[in-house]
Amino acid sequence: MVRAYVALGANLGDAAVALRQAVKAIGRLPLTEVRQPSSLYKTAPLDTDSGGESPASGADYLNAVVEIDTGLSAPDLLNHLQQIEQQAGRERPYRNAPRTLDLDLLLYGNGRIESARLTLPHPRMAQRAFVLVPLAEIAPDLVGAAQLAAVAHQRIERLSRLD
Ligand code: AMP
Repeated sequence: MVRAYVALGANLGDAAVALRQAVKAIGRLPLTEVRQPSSLYKTAPLDTDSGGESPASGADYLNAVVEIDTGLSAPDLLNHLQQIEQQAGRERPYRNAPRTLDLDLLLYGNGRIESARLTLPHPRMAQRAFVLVPLAEIAPDLVGAAQLAAVAHQRIERLSRLD
């Protein structure tokens, strides 16, 4: 089994329901067990597509990070996560609507991968308070104070437990 961390985000529809359902779906994956979810966080939308992390318009996001143990390989785990995303995406209200659910594989043990489909550790995690703050809640040893300080200007509010 490998300890891995998955980031969850949603900003459409009932985002809290989407995240809770996603955690359940991750727990049902083969060879996979959820160890602990972080709290639920509300965060301001960021323009992450541009490679930068500048503010963007749109509804606030809900975010969380979940710690899992898995016997799946990293590429297989990513496949499964993308299937869960697609299932949630069927609820999209119109074509090309923002995704109801975004799942990112942050860390897979100490794994380092750079393939066309998968980069590990996740290349942009260090720039995102919505990843680092929930990750630090459940795995404080993995996030340094300097990393948190670097994203301290990004608005993030802890809401409630996810489970
Ligand atoms: P996004 O639209 O931001 O969810 O990015 C999805 C794309 O990023 C997919 O094409 C994935 O193959 C790719 N990708 C690369 N590394 C990762 C990772 N660590 N976790 C999730 N997606 C990844």
